[in-house]
Parts: sequence; C-alpha cells; structure tokens
Amino acid sequence: MRLGGRVAVVTGASRGLGRAIALAFAQEGATVAVCYRSGEQEAAEVVGRITAAGGSAMAVQVDTASRPSLEAMAGRVVDRFGRLDILVNNAGVMNTTAFLDLTDGEWDRVLDTNLKGYFRAAQVCAREMMKRSYGRIVNVSSTRQVQANYGNTAYCASKGGIYMLNRTMAAELAPHGICVNSIAPGTIETDLNRSYLSDPAFLAKRVSEIPIGRLGEPDEVVGATIFLASEQASFCVGASIMIDGGQTLI
Ligand code: NAD
Repeated sequence: MRLGGRVAVVTGASRGLGRAIALAFAQEGATVAVCYRSGEQEAAEVVGRITAAGGSAMAVQVDTASRPSLEAMAGRVVDRFGRLDILVNNAGVMNTTAFLDLTDGEWDRVLDTNLKGYFRAAQVCAREMMKRSYGRIVNVSSTRQVQANYGNTAYCASKGGIYMLNRTMAAELAPHGICVNSIAPGTIETDLNRSYLSDPAFLAKRVSEIPIGRLGEPDEVVGATIFLASEQASFCVGASIMIDGGQTLI
C-alpha cells in the first residue's frame, strides 16, 4: 500500500490514462477524487469500482480551464476527506491542425487547458499541501514535450511548456515538502487519439517508429505515477520519466 492514508486528486479521471491512474491509486490505498469535466456517468463508474473493492473515492466535476471551478473542487475534497496530498495533473486536449492553418482560438483552447490548466490546478492544490508541509504533484506530460509532430503545434507547445512548468514548480515547491515530477507517455490508444490511430497506414507508421514495436496501454503509465506520488519519491524533484517504448530514442 504505497499510497495508504493519502488523498489524491486526479483530473480527467473518467476515462483514458486518468481512469487507469485513479483505479491504481485506490488499489495502493489512496482516497481518490475522480475529477471529470463532462463524463459524469463514467466518473461514477470509476468511483463505483473503487468503493466496491473496499476503497474510498468521490466524483468531482471540475473544469481545469476555470480557477473558481478548481478552487471549489479542492474545497470539496478537503471538506470531505480532511486533506489533499497528491495531485495528478492529467486533463488534456489534443489538436491536429497544420501550423499555417492554426487559429488563435484553437491555440488558446489547447494552451489554456493543457498548460495554464496544469499551472492553475497545481497552484490551488499546492496551497492545501503546504498546510501540512507535504505533497506530491505528478504532471502528465508527453513525449511531445521534446519531440515535434506534424500538425500538432499547439499540443507540442503546451507539452514543451509543461516540461519547464514541471521544473520551475519543482524548484519552488521543494522547500515546502512538495515533490513535483512528471511522466511523459508515448503513444497510447485512448479517446484522445483513437480517430487517427484507426487509420491503418497511420497506425503502421507510428508503430514502426516505436522500438518496442507496439503502442502502450493505459495501465503501463501507472507504475511510474504511483512511484512519483508516493513517499518513496522523496528525493525526486523535477524529474520527467519517459514511458514511450523507446519512441524518443531514435
Ligand atoms: P482522454 O481524452 O481519454 O482523456 C482526457 C481527459 O481530460 C478527458 O476525460 C477530458 O474530459 C479531460 N479534460 C479535457 N479538458 C478538460 C478540462 N478543461 N477540464 C477538466 N477535464 C478536462 O485522453 P488521455 O489519452 O487519457 O490523455 C490524458 C493525458 O495524457 C493528457 O494530458 C494527454 O495529453 C496525455 N498523454 C496522452 C497520450 C496518449 O497517447 N494517449 C500520450 C502522451 C500524453
């Protein structure tokens, strides 16, 4: 039970990587706030699975593009569970528009959720963590923090921003007992990318770029996330763990 007694907030936890992380955290003993933006039923299903297994969780609606919404979420978590120890910044959106066609509105939508949303959520939750001089923040970044991708300018820029947000937050929050780190997954089939990966030619090309010869599974990001969220990560500050089957090696 590496997260026993801890209260964790996971954004975007109704599906995809966030769902896998929320379920795995609960198995490790954490009480989990399963945050969702619009997937109320899916979030309730995640909470149901956790409580049926004897764990503790609640679903909380939150829009990470809104500071009042994040503050209300943190307030509900602390009211219900008495503390907030761990944040997994995971809620994100993807865009695929060629650079020359990218509009201001699309740029703003992606950056506001992926980068500013992580900043806002971390600041709101860190203020709670500081009260007990203990915290863990895991930022779900992407290989796209360092590896470009055609038609992905706003997404890559947001993840590149998270790379430095992770490092600067880590330096400033470490003296408060809060360890900030990130994971950088490669290609994992979820609702985020299913439409592109359903094109056999695109899928074959992508797989050919991954040394391990396949896409990842959501469950393959949970081990590193649990470690970074645990007390065992007590000397990890500003790290970013690539989980990509070797995609960024070549
Ligand atoms: P997903 O689309 O299944 O899940 C993203 C979740 O974020 C959804 O539940 C969505 O509702 C939520 N969300 C989006 N905007 C939000 C907002 N403003 N407020 C609250 N919630 C919001 O995708 P996923 O693949 O599970 O992605 C999760 C994270 O992992 C993202 O940050 C993504 O960039 C990152 N990631 C994914 C992959 C991949 O291949 N799937 C690779 C690298 C990184």
